[in-house]
Amino acid sequence: RARQLGRNRVEWYDDQLEEQFTRRLDLERELPGAVQRGELDLVYQPVLDLDDEQPVGTEALLRWRNPALGTVLPAELLPVAEDLMLVEELGRWVLDTACRQLAAWSQRPRRLWMSVNISSRELTAPDFVRWVSTSLAEHRVEPDRLVLEIAEPRGGVDVPAVVTQLAGLRALGVRTALDDFGSGQASLAQLRRLPVDFLKVDRTLVTEGGNRQGESKPFIDVLVSLGKRFGLEIIAEGLESPVQVEQARRAGCRLGQGYALSRPAPAERVEAYLEEFPSPSR
Ligand code: C2E
Ligand code: MG
Ligand code: MG
Ligand code: MG
Repeated sequence: RARQLGRNRVEWYDDQLEEQFTRRLDLERELPGAVQRGELDLVYQPVLDLDDEQPVGTEALLRWRNPALGTVLPAELLPVAEDLMLVEELGRWVLDTACRQLAAWSQRPRRLWMSVNISSRELTAPDFVRWVSTSLAEHRVEPDRLVLEIAEPRGGVDVPAVVTQLAGLRALGVRTALDDFGSGQASLAQLRRLPVDFLKVDRTLVTEGGNRQGESKPFIDVLVSLGKRFGLEIIAEGLESPVQVEQARRAGCRLGQGYALSRPAPAERVEAYLEEFPSPSR
């Protein structure tokens, strides 16, 4: 009987592996033509001013809608794109589409900015700054309406190249953000070196009671004063409940993002949402 159980477990394990392997092969087969077939899509999640809960910007998030695979999220899609050397092609589609949307939303009385996530492979491509400048000009978007979000550079990333490129983007008038701050290593040392305007921190670093009560409180104080000292705006992300929104506000984060405030949605839905805030901000 023990042997029987053991064999079942092995079979179950084999099935799992086979399923993962098949899925991966499907992704690798379908992804190369996805841009041409028009399967890529962006959804937009508003960023709010926590003092008056008015939208100040949106973040573009990539979705891949494939008839056979369903909606594929970035966490699954990006590693495949990386392996197939498609990161730049996808990134160019994302930036172009986000700038077009930004141009459409520029007609609105409220001045919203848009954040676009970029991978370090895109950022460190030699012609990236020129490409951003071309996209902005093509869609007649003012550079200060665009925010480019990068993840903390990990091992193997050429940090001096990242610094140069970020500085080049800021010279265009584009603003930059460090995403998922606190999730990696050597964060504080990097913070001094990286030319960024925004620091995006996860709710787990902003709110109390995520793990042990009160333990994260002193840390967020440090983050907020650090942000002020370096001239950075802090955005609390992943806010899932009104309590977390309140805690982020009390911690001194002026800006916030999360399901409790507004979920990522297609452009038309975001437009309808923005209609609820007709008056231009102060
Ligand atoms: P991110 O930039 O940190 O984006 C936030 C992620 O958290 C998004 O997941 C968003 O849908 C999700 N989120 C928003 N509010 C909440 C909340 O209250 N609770 C929780 N649990 N989650 C929330 P998504 O869209 O799956 O994107 C995941 C990551 O993929 C992004 O993290 C970003 O790093 C990357 N990504 C997304 N779009 C692009 C893109 O166009 N290009 C590149 N290079 N990366 C992208
Ligand atoms: Mg982001
Ligand atoms: Mg983030
Ligand atoms: Mg994140």
